Amino acid sequence: MPESDGAEKIAAMLAAARAAMAQAYAPYSRFPVGAALLGANGKIYAGCNVENAAYPQGCCAETSAISAMIADGERQIRAVLVVGQGTALIAPCGGCRQRLNEFAAANTPVHLCGPQGVMQTVTMGALLPYAFGPQNLGSAS
Ligand SMILES: [Zn+2]
Repeated sequence: MPESDGAEKIAAMLAAARAAMAQAYAPYSRFPVGAALLGANGKIYAGCNVENAAYPQGCCAETSAISAMIADGERQIRAVLVVGQGTALIAPCGGCRQRLNEFAAANTPVHLCGPQGVMQTVTMGALLPYAFGPQNLGSAS
């Protein structure tokens, strides 16, 4: 595990994701989700899902967190954390795996959390194998 991925940092990410989850706008699914990204700069960026009456126009918690990170000028994700409710393991949807991959590496840890905390930690490479990314377009940073 990277140094940045210590228990204290994960706890801070979980707190940020939970705080964002509490603000989720999810009147249709009633399934609030929170996400937190640890930037290479050490800052934590959180987001929640924001649904819409025109369903496809809603956005996921991970996407909201990416927007906050990019707006702050950060471009590199060092760790990802997602939190939801219920007992089933929650993981980023397919679209968000692709969005996260744009700013993360194959070995970037992704912490999947439930009400009790971290349930499982995987890597971006495990979530999105054979990913199509910036390297395919010759624009890897
Ligand atoms: Zn998603």
